[in-house]
Amino acid sequence: MTTEEFWNPEHIVEKFWNGLKEGKILARKCPECGAIEFPPHLACNSCGYIETEWTQMSGKAMLKSFVFTGVLNARLELEDRGLKYVCGEVEFEEGVSINAVILGINKKKGREIQDKLPLPVHPVFYDMGRYTTLFFELDEN
Ligand SMILES: [Zn+2]
Repeated sequence: MTTEEFWNPEHIVEKFWNGLKEGKILARKCPECGAIEFPPHLACNSCGYIETEWTQMSGKAMLKSFVFTGVLNARLELEDRGLKYVCGEVEFEEGVSINAVILGINKKKGREIQDKLPLPVHPVFYDMGRYTTLFFELDEN
């Protein structure tokens, strides 16, 4: 970690979003206990060590569970684009779980895969215009 990163955590956030633009999923790894902080975080939440270093996630992940969104938790920027999606729990092979958007799942597809979870997914670096964000897609698609 550079002094600049220490004093300005915003740089971590910025580097993460710039990484997505280049198709990289960046996280922070604790040199003390090896825990991975994702989304990137300056200090280690597992052991409390104050320094973490950049690491790139492989992108290999499993969809463990999902829910269809309703009116209150709908992602308007996705609705506007007419995308079919669900929100789900995705676990990276590095052992970190996040809540993420999984594209390409409509009600019918959702019913088909519900009992087959966990299923492999891969990252989709989606250009939202002003920024690139991270979504996932089932491997079979
Ligand atoms: Zn740690």
